[in-house]
Amino acid sequence: MNDRIPLARLVTPESVAVIGASDDMGKFGGRVVAYLKKFGYPGQILPINPRRAVVMELPAYASVGAAPGPIDVAILALPAEGLLEQIEACAEAGIGACIVITGKLADAGAEGAALQDRIVATARAAGMRLLGPNCLGIVNPVGRAALSSTLALEGPVLRAGGIGIVSQSGALMGTLLSLALDYGAGFSRCISVGNQADLELCDFLEFLIDDDATRVICLYAEGFRDPQRFRDLLFRAREAGKPVLCVKAGRSEGGARAAASHTASLAGSWESFAAVCRAAGAVPMDDPAAMIFAADALVRMPPLRAPGLGVAVIASSGGATAVTADMLPRFGARLGELSDATRAAMAPWMPAKDVHLPVDTGAFHGGTSGDGITACLRAFMTDPDIGAVIYPMATMPRMADHAARLPGLSREGATPILYAMTAGRVGDGARGKMLDADYPWFDRMADALQAWRVMEAVAQGRAEQAPPPARPDGAGPALPAGLPISGPLTEQETKRLVAAYGIPVTREAAATTADDAVRAATAIGFPVVMKGASRAILHKSDLGLVRLNLTDAEAVRDAFTDIMARIEAAAPGTAEGVLVQEMARGEAELILGVTHDPDFGPMIMVGLGGTLVEVLKDVQLAPAPVSPAQAEAMLRRLVLWPVLAGVRGRPPVDVAAASDALARLSWLAQDLGSRLVELDINPLIVRAAGQGAIAVDGRATLAEPA
Ligand code: ADP
Ligand code: MG
Repeated sequence: MNDRIPLARLVTPESVAVIGASDDMGKFGGRVVAYLKKFGYPGQILPINPRRAVVMELPAYASVGAAPGPIDVAILALPAEGLLEQIEACAEAGIGACIVITGKLADAGAEGAALQDRIVATARAAGMRLLGPNCLGIVNPVGRAALSSTLALEGPVLRAGGIGIVSQSGALMGTLLSLALDYGAGFSRCISVGNQADLELCDFLEFLIDDDATRVICLYAEGFRDPQRFRDLLFRAREAGKPVLCVKAGRSEGGARAAASHTASLAGSWESFAAVCRAAGAVPMDDPAAMIFAADALVRMPPLRAPGLGVAVIASSGGATAVTADMLPRFGARLGELSDATRAAMAPWMPAKDVHLPVDTGAFHGGTSGDGITACLRAFMTDPDIGAVIYPMATMPRMADHAARLPGLSREGATPILYAMTAGRVGDGARGKMLDADYPWFDRMADALQAWRVMEAVAQGRAEQAPPPARPDGAGPALPAGLPISGPLTEQETKRLVAAYGIPVTREAAATTADDAVRAATAIGFPVVMKGASRAILHKSDLGLVRLNLTDAEAVRDAFTDIMARIEAAAPGTAEGVLVQEMARGEAELILGVTHDPDFGPMIMVGLGGTLVEVLKDVQLAPAPVSPAQAEAMLRRLVLWPVLAGVRGRPPVDVAAASDALARLSWLAQDLGSRLVELDINPLIVRAAGQGAIAVDGRATLAEPA
C-alpha cells in the first residue's frame, strides 16, 4: 500500500489533529495545541476532545472521524492503553501520518513491544505512517510547525536556520534546541524518532539530504535499523555537499546498556560506526552540545578554503594566546607559517622580532588597538598557510567594540574566525554584538577548537571524495582450492588465501619429518624460520613454536624435534607438522586485520606495535574495500606513523607496499563478506622504501557459506 502522504508533508503538514487536546498546559495535549498557536502554525489545528466544544479558543471535535478531513497529521500523547483504538480511528479517518508521543512500548518490555507491533501493523495496512512511539515529535522552525510537546518550546522564539537534526532522544533534542537559541543558532527541522517503530532515522536523514532548508545535518543515534542504508546515505549526503555530524551512544558498555533500555536499540560497534562515518566524510562525535556548536559554525561561518591549513591565534592576552597555542595539537590543529607579506602588513603594529604566531595584541606599539587587530586579521586571511583564525577573548577594556569588528571581517575575508568569549557575564556585551551580527561565538576554547576540528574534517572529507576504489590487478576473486569450508585456517592456508589477492607471502613448505624439513630448508635457502603447525594453537611464539634464523641442517633437525614435542605437550594429537619458511627482514611490523561487523559488513584494520598493539590500541579501521590511497591515509592516521616515516636514523619504510597489501586485503574482505569471520596478517614485515613488504604470519576463520 502506498503512503497516504509524503514525508515532507509530515514535516510540514497543512492540517494537524491533536488527540487529547486540552486547555491544561500541564498536559501533553494542552502544550501541543498551545505551541502550535504560539509559533504561528500556518495550517489548520484540529483539537480532538470528546468532552469539549472549544479548546484554546479553537473548535474541538469529538473524534478524528468527526473532524473535517482530509487531515495530514495526528499527534497522540495518550496513555498506552488507549493507543491502539485511536490509531485505528486515525487509520479509518484517512489521517496521513501519526506522531506518537506515548512511551512505554517496545522501550518497556515484551508486552509493550507486542502492542507497538500491532499499532504499526494497523497503520501500515492503511498506508498511514507512524513517527515514534516514545518520541517528542517534530519541531519545524522553517515551516513554523511545532508538532511537539518539548519544553524547549517554552522559549520565546523558534529560530529558523540551516541545522537539521534527527534524534533518537526527544529530551536531548529539546535541550539542543533551547541551547542553540541562546547562541543565535537556528534549525531547519528537528525530528525526534523515538523507538523508530515505523519511520526511522534514515528516512529523515534522507529527507534532510533533499531538503533545501537544511545545510548541515546533525544526528543523535542509539542504534541503526538498517546500517547499510545509513552508510549509503552518508555517502549521498557528501555528494549533496551536506555535512553530517553524528553522536552515537554506546561507545562504552554503560552507554550501550542505556541505549538498549532507552529505545530498545542494539548499539553495535562504535568503532565500526566511526570508521564508516569517516569513510563517508561524516563526523562522529561524542558531545551533543559540541555537535550543535560545530554545525552552527558550518552553517553561519565561511567554510575553510582547503583542508590541511594552519590557524592563526590572536588575542589581547598573552596568557590566552599561550594556552590556546598549547591546546591546538590535541584538536589536530597547528599554527600557520606566516608569509613575508603577512609579516610586512603587521610590521607597523608590532616590533618585527615579535611578528610570529600566536599574536599577543598587547605587544602592539601603544597596546591593543582595533585598527591593529583589523590589519592583522586582514593579513591572516590572505596568507596562503592560514585557513582560520582562533580568537580567545579574556577580559579587557572595549571587548564589545573589538568583537563587533569580527563578523564583517570574517565574511569579507571568507575565512572563519572562531571567537571564544571565555569571560563570564561581563562578556555579554561582546556576545550581544555577535548575536546582532548573526555570527557564532563560543564560550569555551575547547568548543571553538572542536568546531574547527569538525570544519577541518568536513573539508578533508570533501577533498578525499573519490570514485569507489578499483580492484587492484591480480586481486582475486578466485580462491585457492583445498581450503576447509569452515573453521580455523592454518598459517599456510591463510597465506595461500591472501596470496591469491596478490599479497606477497613467505616462500614456505610444510614438513612432517625432520628429513623433509631439511630438504625444504635447503630448497628455500638458509637461514630459515620453522614454526609448529596446529589448528588448535593461536599464538605460536607464546609456546616456543617459532624458531627464527636457523642457519644449517642440524639446527633444522633440532628445531623439528623440539617443536613437535612442544605441540604434543600443549595440544596433544593436533600437530600437523612444521612449516619451514624463508627468513624475512625489514624495518617495521604491521598488523593487518579483517573483521565482519554485524552492522556494517567487512571492515579492515591496520596497526603498528607488534605484540604491544593490544595495549597501545593504535589501530585504524575502515569499511572495505579501500584504495591504496585510502589505505595510506589510514597508515598516516596512526599515532605511530612517524615510526613508518623514519625516526632516529631508521629509514622510511615502503609505505606504498604496505598500502597496496592493505588495499588487496580489503578486496578479499569484500569478496568473502560474512564467510570471512576474521583474518589477521600479523606481522606484515615492511622493508625500507622501495623494497616491498611480506606477510610472515597469518590466521583466519571461515564460516560456512550461507
Ligand atoms: P605467532 O603465532 O606467535 O604470532 P609468528 O609466526 O607471528 O607467530 O612469529 C612470531 C614473530 O616471529 C613474528 O611477529 C615475527 O617477528 C617473527 N617471524 C615470524 N616468521 C618470520 C619470518 N618468516 N621471517 C622473519 N621473522 C619472522
Ligand atoms: Mg603472529
